[in-house]
Amino acid sequence: MNGSTGILRPTRIKLDAGNDSLAITWSDGHSSVYAYSTLRSQCPCATCLGTEGERAAPAAPASLPMFKTALRPVRVEVVGRYALQIFWNDGHSTGIYTFTYLRNLCPCAECAPA
Ligand SMILES: [Zn+2]
Ligand SMILES: [Zn+2]
Repeated sequence: MNGSTGILRPTRIKLDAGNDSLAITWSDGHSSVYAYSTLRSQCPCATCLGTEGERAAPAAPASLPMFKTALRPVRVEVVGRYALQIFWNDGHSTGIYTFTYLRNLCPCAECAPA
């Protein structure tokens, strides 16, 4: 078994308030920059996904935050060895972004689906 390949993890995590983005440098050397708005809209928690409980509601516009520019993470914590937890300034903090999930969200040209 080779346990050292295939497991990506951030080696550096930087909140860039000036650009409203979160920059992650990965263990394979790749760098990803995520806009705060993207991260929040892709929050994987049950509340944001709305996949728990009944899904009888028709497809309606997702509830949008009333504020546009103020939303930002106040801090980011590594959860175990597999994920990041983002604490937003509106008090939301239940989103656990696994490293795999984050890497798949990387918006760069190299990672973007064709
Ligand atoms: Zn959420
Ligand atoms: Zn990328």
